[in-house]
Amino acid sequence: MTHLSQATLTAVADGELPAGSQQRVEKHLYTCSRCQHELVLLRNVRSRLRLLEPPTPPGDLAHRLMSLAAAMGPLDEHSPLLGSSIPLGSGSARLGQYPESPTTPGEQSL
Ligand SMILES: [Zn+2]
Repeated sequence: MTHLSQATLTAVADGELPAGSQQRVEKHLYTCSRCQHELVLLRNVRSRLRLLEPPTPPGDLAHRLMSLAAAMGPLDEHSPLLGSSIPLGSGSARLGQYPESPTTPGEQSL
């Protein structure tokens, strides 16, 4: 007797069995205590996993990520992470380092 594969049993436990194989699988499960047992175990594991609390990130995660990003320095302008439409730091942060603008306040109003 060929038993059901782990993938098939997982699909049964998830209720995601393909319609074509449903009858064959159900027929096997009806007669095979070993696969029934496997399925019960899988369903038990799944229901226990559902009861677990979702993991909560540590409270200082955001602070640690920000300091990590600061330690890495500004992003390369050609980085795929940086869209050209995102006005991130480097442009405005550099303004203070430029020499004084040659234009006078009066000329800027033009
Ligand atoms: Zn079996």
